Amino acid sequence: MTPPGDAQARRDVAPVICYPTDSLPAPDLARYARFRDAAQPVARHTIPARDGGAFHVPAGGFFRITCIEGPQVGDLNLFSAADPVERFYSGKTRALHGTHLSVGHRMWSGFPHLRPMATMVADTLGWYGRDAFGGRVHDVIGTRCDPYTHWQLSGGDMYHHCCHSNLTRALEAEGVAEAETRVHDVLNVFMCTGFTEETGQYFMKASPVRPGDHVEFFAEIDLLGVLSACPGGDCGAEHSSDSAACHPLQIDVFETPAAVLGDWTPPALNGYDGSHGR
Ligand SMILES: [Zn+2]
Repeated sequence: MTPPGDAQARRDVAPVICYPTDSLPAPDLARYARFRDAAQPVARHTIPARDGGAFHVPAGGFFRITCIEGPQVGDLNLFSAADPVERFYSGKTRALHGTHLSVGHRMWSGFPHLRPMATMVADTLGWYGRDAFGGRVHDVIGTRCDPYTHWQLSGGDMYHHCCHSNLTRALEAEGVAEAETRVHDVLNVFMCTGFTEETGQYFMKASPVRPGDHVEFFAEIDLLGVLSACPGGDCGAEHSSDSAACHPLQIDVFETPAAVLGDWTPPALNGYDGSHGR
């Protein structure tokens, strides 16, 4: 194919940020830190290796995901505890904050709700930044490993402990109807990923997470969470099989006393009127 005469000029056009976030209300991290100081532990859950589990967090509280025994990636779904139709929207979160989340970034819910569900307030892997391959941690790029893609790529193998299946079972156990259809694209906690420069393919590499590392979120609304300890383990080789070394993950939930929350309220639902010009 012969490029047009102005090919270079077209390539040289400078990019602009799709969604400048200057107008987003910035999270009041100092206020959240005061809440965290007063918050009390109320629950601890252990998510078994290659399995999923659920947890609840009251609005104004916190949840912490900790690597406890060995490098392990977690696939996280979030729902409004009041109405699981409202759920995390990985794609819009990526469009707003970038491919990987760090402290101060929000996990946003989908349309028509579109509001912050959780805000990252602590991350012991914050030092990692961007490596020489373009890898970063905590991505909102990947979807979740699933038995359908695995069936397709493996020529018909049935594997039942992909994150999609683990999240489905965990949500079903919470009594959520049509659980599989509610499971959505995840936040890949601790996962180290990027895109190859040449082909733009999604890559993963062994997570830098080690026992004791954790990431912590402020719950902007009452949350139901489900987390899968991915069968890929540290995701350094492969997933969708039992071949990788896998470890449990721990979730701790903290509640902030109402007296400390004071006049804080969860973010309102999105203000768009929903008329779509009709
Ligand atoms: Zn997985």
